[in-house]
Amino acid sequence: MDIKESSFFQPKELRKKGNKEFRILWSDGHESLYTFRRLRQNCPCALCVEEITGRLILDPDSVPQNLEGLKVQAVGQYGLRFDFSDGHTTGIYTFKHLRKCCPCDQHPNQTLRT
Ligand SMILES: [Zn+2]
Ligand SMILES: [Zn+2]
Repeated sequence: MDIKESSFFQPKELRKKGNKEFRILWSDGHESLYTFRRLRQNCPCALCVEEITGRLILDPDSVPQNLEGLKVQAVGQYGLRFDFSDGHTTGIYTFKHLRKCCPCDQHPNQTLRT
């Protein structure tokens, strides 16, 4: 990750809203509002995504509708780790990945796993 890119993917404010939603305000002014369910569906860990091919192992529909986020922890300067109510905690979400997972419709060129 070069310096320019890392500043683009830098969060200004992180806020957990109850156990259902998570909000990131980015340093470029963009705002992302995630449900923990969506974050869980986009988990980047080796149990959910095949590392080499990027193929999705996790079936997004298998994630319960009522999935909650119990805890949010910072991972160094570059990402976050979530404790989900289904017991899954292995994914490290870089801010770059989180930005890609933004659920708004202002990012037509990115590929999303929905
Ligand atoms: Zn995972
Ligand atoms: Zn967005």
